[in-house]
Amino acid sequence: MTDNPILAVADKARALRAQGVDVITLAAGEPQAATSAVVVQAAVDAARDPATHHYATAQGDPALRERVATAVAGDTRLSWTPDDVQVTLGAKHALFLAVQALVGAGEEVLVAAPGWPGHAEAVTAAGGIAVPVATDRTFRLSAEALETRRSPRTRAVILSSPGNPTGAVHPEARLRQIADWARRHDVWVISDDIYRAFDYTGTYRSILRAAPSLRGRAVVVGGVSKEHAMTGWRVGWLAAPPQVIASARLHVSRTITHVPTVNQRAALAALDDTATPVRAASDYRRRRALLVRALNGIDGIDCPLPDGGMFAFPDVGALLRDRGWTSGADLAAWLLDTARLAVVPGEAFRAPGRIRVCFAVDDSTLITAVERLRAVLAPRGAGRPHTT
Ligand code: PLP
Repeated sequence: MTDNPILAVADKARALRAQGVDVITLAAGEPQAATSAVVVQAAVDAARDPATHHYATAQGDPALRERVATAVAGDTRLSWTPDDVQVTLGAKHALFLAVQALVGAGEEVLVAAPGWPGHAEAVTAAGGIAVPVATDRTFRLSAEALETRRSPRTRAVILSSPGNPTGAVHPEARLRQIADWARRHDVWVISDDIYRAFDYTGTYRSILRAAPSLRGRAVVVGGVSKEHAMTGWRVGWLAAPPQVIASARLHVSRTITHVPTVNQRAALAALDDTATPVRAASDYRRRRALLVRALNGIDGIDCPLPDGGMFAFPDVGALLRDRGWTSGADLAAWLLDTARLAVVPGEAFRAPGRIRVCFAVDDSTLITAVERLRAVLAPRGAGRPHTT
């Protein structure tokens, strides 16, 4: 079994740091910012409350489920109750539980390529087979592309919009088309909406808002990790029809018993803290512009402006060709050695001619990272004309 390639880069950067090397990491898919003080205080208060010291319900704290139901109702414009929600150890756990509920051994789940490897890993971990589906030139899935990879064993598709690493946001019409296809072929849609707030064009839509009739065949996955800078707290959820919730609850009760109550209280405070994510979004928008401009100023790099997410995902093919390298992994290894800069090679996402660069770091870190890039790579125009 191979390790997650993203975590492998982050681990290598951490190891170098431990040796005293001044590495900047734009590799991990997480906000560098600390969790807000309001949330931390809620966790401290919760830890002092003896009610959090004992076993609790497997499905999750009712107050948190109520709040999640309200949030999902806001996104989908459908009504949800706490019974429709299972609290999980982060969105990754929610994805695993959804696949585990829906997919039998040897059955298939369609995942986007390029796409986040965690989707395929969740499928495999839950006993299914992940089938990559090529996205279009704008990194979006389409019904036509999904149809080319459908088989009698296809049970579900995992959709993530805004996506990682591409930042692609699927517009409403495309979501409707995918939902129609799914309904026609009796395929479930697992909608990973973890980046819902990282939407720079205002085009994010829940697939259930675009196609409410998919309700009985859709699972909405979310969490506080990205939006509230809480990746270490491990709180996520799924909202789904009763048979999925029943399966997820049983699995949670037989394995982890429940998500730690203190963490659930922190997540509840996060969902009530609407100001912090809004402030963060305007920071991310500025950093996205700064990074994409800098990358496009380097010879051999072409970087589209992502509509969402927290990553630039440039095409570095021309740079690789110039240097005689065969893959983004060569460039990533070289950047770590020469610029002390950690990025993730595109291979991790089935996109060998690209790298993923996270911009959810503070301005000064990003500016230093850009200076390091400029110090080791030639400016645009030094070699060949700009191609895109
Ligand atoms: N979904 C996507 C698309 C992600 O990129 C990630 C993390 O990188 C996750 C889910 C996992 O989120 P969590 O940390 O809540 O498990």
